[in-house]
Amino acid sequence: MITVRVPAKVNVQLGVGGLRGDGFHDLANVFFAVALGDEVTARHGAGVTLTCAGPDAALVPLDDTNLAARAARLLAAHHGIEPNAALHIDKAVPVAGGMAGGSADGAAALVACDALWGLATPLPELLAIAAELGSDVPFALLGGVALGRGRGELLEPLEVAGTFHWVFAVADGGLSTPAVFRECDRLRERAGTGSSERDVPTPDADPALLAALAGGDPVALAAALGNDLQAAALSLRPALADCLAAGLAAGALGALVSGSGPTCAFLVKDALEAASVAAALTASGTCRTALPTHGPVPGARVITSADGESGRAD
Ligand code: ATP
Repeated sequence: MITVRVPAKVNVQLGVGGLRGDGFHDLANVFFAVALGDEVTARHGAGVTLTCAGPDAALVPLDDTNLAARAARLLAAHHGIEPNAALHIDKAVPVAGGMAGGSADGAAALVACDALWGLATPLPELLAIAAELGSDVPFALLGGVALGRGRGELLEPLEVAGTFHWVFAVADGGLSTPAVFRECDRLRERAGTGSSERDVPTPDADPALLAALAGGDPVALAAALGNDLQAAALSLRPALADCLAAGLAAGALGALVSGSGPTCAFLVKDALEAASVAAALTASGTCRTALPTHGPVPGARVITSADGESGRAD
C-alpha cells in the first residue's frame, strides 16, 4: 500500500492571452502549492478501481474519466504493463473550485502507482505523462512555486523565500473552467478589445510579483496578485465579490479568485491572522467554509509505504 500526499494550487498570477486557433489560451501562470491537499492511496488490485471520501466525495466521478484512474492507466500503458491498482482518494480540495484538485489526484496517482508497481519512472517521463493528462498536472508533481507558460504545462521553478500564509474560502457549487474562459473571451469582445491571439498581448510574469516571492514579502505579494479570469468568474458568480470584500475587511493583505474560481484566496500576514480571517469569513456567510493553510509545499510525494514507513507530511 502506498499513500501519496499532493498539494492544491493557487495561481498568484494568472495572465490570459488571446484565444488561439486550437481553442486554448497562452498563459503566464504563477502556480503556488499550498498545504491544503488530497491523499491518494494505491493498493494491489485487479484492474483499476476507485473510491473517494471527503466532504465533496459525491461530486467526484468514479468512472474512467477520473484523472487518478486515467493516470494509472496511462502510466501502465507507458510501461506496457497491465493497470492493476485499487485507488482511494481522501479528498480535502474543493471539487471544481479552481484549485486543480482533479489534476492533483492525477499527479498523486502517477506517483502512487509508480511506487506500487516498482517502476522508478524518471521524473522527466512522469512530467511528460502528466502533461498528457492535463495542463495543471505537471505542477502538482513539482509543487513549490513555478511559472507555467503555453497552456500552463511548460514549467520553470521559481525562487521563493520563507512561508506565506493563506485562507481559502470554499463556495457552494463549482464553476466550469472552460465556461470561465469563454466568459473571459465574451467580456473582452464586449469591451471592444477583442479576444483573439492578435488582439491580446502575450502575457508575461510580473517582475514585481517575482521579486515579492523571492524576497518572502507578503505585503508586496498581496499588492502584485493578479488573475485575468477574475472578472469572468465574478460575472458568472457576482456573489463572490461579497466574499472577497469580507476577507479584506477581516484583515487579509490581499484577495483574489483562485484560478477559474469560485474558491477565493486570501493572503494574510501570519498563521494567527489566517485563523482569525478564516473565522471571520466563515461567520460572514459569504462562503461555505474557510480554511487556513500555508505554502509553498512540495509536490506529490509518498508519505506512507507498504512497510508502514512514514515520510514527512506538511
Ligand atoms: P482546474 O482549476 O484545474 O480547472 P478545478 O479545481 O476547477 O480544476 P477539479 O476539482 O479539478 O476542478 O474538477 C473539475 C472536474 O473534473 C470535476 O467537476 C470532475 O467532473 C472532474 N474530475 C476528474 N477527476 C477528478 C478528481 N480526481 N477529483 C475531482 N474532480 C475530478
